[in-house]
Amino acid sequence: MGIVTAYGVTEPHGAFTKLDLERRDLDQNDVLIKIAFAGICHSDIHTVRGEWGQITFPMIPGHEIAGIVEAVGPGVTKHNVGDRVGVGCFVDSCRECENCLSGWDNYCLKRNTGTYNSVDKYGMPTAGGYSSHIVVDENYTLSIPDGIGLDVAAPLLCAGITMYSPLAHWGTGPGKNVAIVGLGGLGHVGVKIARAMGAEVTIMTRSNAKEADAARLGASRFIATSAPDALEGLRNTFDLIVNTISSGIDVNHYLSTLRLHGAMVNVGVPTEPYTVPFGFLAGGQKSLAASAIGSIRETQEMLNFCATHGIGADIELISAHQIDDAYDRVVASDVRYRFVIDAATF
Ligand code: NAP
Ligand code: ZN
Ligand code: ZN
Repeated sequence: MGIVTAYGVTEPHGAFTKLDLERRDLDQNDVLIKIAFAGICHSDIHTVRGEWGQITFPMIPGHEIAGIVEAVGPGVTKHNVGDRVGVGCFVDSCRECENCLSGWDNYCLKRNTGTYNSVDKYGMPTAGGYSSHIVVDENYTLSIPDGIGLDVAAPLLCAGITMYSPLAHWGTGPGKNVAIVGLGGLGHVGVKIARAMGAEVTIMTRSNAKEADAARLGASRFIATSAPDALEGLRNTFDLIVNTISSGIDVNHYLSTLRLHGAMVNVGVPTEPYTVPFGFLAGGQKSLAASAIGSIRETQEMLNFCATHGIGADIELISAHQIDDAYDRVVASDVRYRFVIDAATF
């Protein structure tokens, strides 16, 4: 392929700058994608700011990618030039472990290849969606149905699947009571998906300012967790809690709101390990679980589901030069509800 334009950081605590990036020539099964939109996930921020350990530079993040196929390798059968496609959090996996073979490549036993901050099978560092183009094996691309705009589809590639997967796995549907903790990028898509699956949805957020939004997104109950007695009266209420926040949460408090056989599933990555007394789970055969994104197969299922139900993310579209400011605003929970970068500005 050659040199393309990207935005990344070149040193710890550095600002985003425009960079040249080498993308590989198309291999047999590769697809060249002209990126149209790239979402900003809070995981990009954790990674770039070194909160998840050492990173390599230049760091070009972005794993919520939507665009158009510009060229295909000779062996490609899944896409044609002009197709609307997406790329999520990983771009390869071993394809032969038990989890890959059973369609759970997000849980590849040999670890999948991250869209950024990883090394691919060619020995090259991977670079993500804050760039004009990306080259990806067709087995790790998604088709974006016509019913969803590419801009509001981009965040579904991480936020959408990260919520869809646990909601589906834990049986969300009519008659189920589901709580989503944290109304951010993940949380707001989670409310829409859980509602579309037929569940009653409660949103738990620190901020009273989001009450009207919670109702608009489909929540039938709003709990402001900043109030000291916020969870009182909610004992034995929820079949499933999906927690999107990463710090400042006492999970034991929330476990008491689960019903018999209920589960609390964390997708927010905790900064500290949890300590949970036996009785908080044993009294009701409850589970405390965690979930990481979703497989390629399930991500396609999620995109099709979202198209059927008219679900996209609520986005604030920004230009490349606004990325640093957007990061600060995400950390301050000052985004409604996902920043998406217009790739034409890279
Ligand atoms: P986000 O847009 O920043 O939303 C997080 C929400 O958490 C905020 O909107 C806020 O909602 C709430 N919150 C509670 N305490 C907070 C605090 N001290 N600081 C900031 N926000 C706080 O982030 P996101 O992109 O949804 O990601 C959420 C978490 O999930 C991150 O840790 C991210 O790394 C992780 N993640 C995990 C996966 C996975 O596969 N497991 C995938 C993607 C992201 P309220 O104001 O409503 O309380
Ligand atoms: Zn993400
Ligand atoms: Zn594998």
